[in-house]
Amino acid sequence: MSDMLITDLDTVAEVAKAHQDAFEVMRYMLQFDEDLDDTALDAFIDRLATPIVAAIDCTQCANCCHNLTVYLTEDDSQRLGQHLGMTQVAFQAAYIDHESAQANDEWGCFKQQPCALLKGKLCSVYDARPDSCRRYPQFTPDFRWVLDDLIEGAALCPIILNLLLKLQPLVDAGIDKHL
Ligand code: SF4
Ligand code: SF4
Repeated sequence: MSDMLITDLDTVAEVAKAHQDAFEVMRYMLQFDEDLDDTALDAFIDRLATPIVAAIDCTQCANCCHNLTVYLTEDDSQRLGQHLGMTQVAFQAAYIDHESAQANDEWGCFKQQPCALLKGKLCSVYDARPDSCRRYPQFTPDFRWVLDDLIEGAALCPIILNLLLKLQPLVDAGIDKHL
C-alpha cells in the first residue's frame, strides 16, 4: 500500500491544507454522533492506522522531531541523563526548559527545536527517548475527542494525514457499518 501513501513533506502540507475544511466536517460528524461507540471507533482506527504506520518510514522523515515541542516527565529525564552518561543537573541544564513547560502544566520540555538529540533524520537516543516521542502520533484512546489536535498535526505528519485521508470517505458514507 506504500505507493498509495503521501510522504513527501511539501505535498503533505499542501494536501492537509486543501483538506482542512473536509477534515473539520468529519470531526463535526464524529463528535456529534450520539450513537457512536467510542471503544468500537477506537478499535477501527487502530486497525486502519496499523498498515499506514507500518508502511511509512519515520527514519526518512523526522518532521515531528524538527517541529514539535517535546514534553518530558522526570522519569524521561532520568532515563535520558543515564543514557547519555550525564548527571541530572548537567542534563537538565543542557536540554530541559522547565519554565515554558510549566506554563502548560508540564514538567519539562526540550529547549531546542529541532530536537538537539536528532542526528540527521535519526534519534540519537532512540532506546531512551521520551514517552511522548514513543507514542507520537497517538490516535487512541478517544480518537474523536483528540481529532482537533490530529487535524492540526496532519500538515506535519504523513502518518496522520494518510490516516485522515483514508477515514474521511468512510465517515462520509457512514462509519457505523465499519464498526
Ligand atoms: S528525543 Fe529522539 S524521537 Fe524525541 S524529538 Fe528528539 S530526536 Fe525525536
Ligand atoms: S511520526 Fe509522523 S512526522 Fe514523525 S517521523 Fe513519523 S511520519 Fe514523520
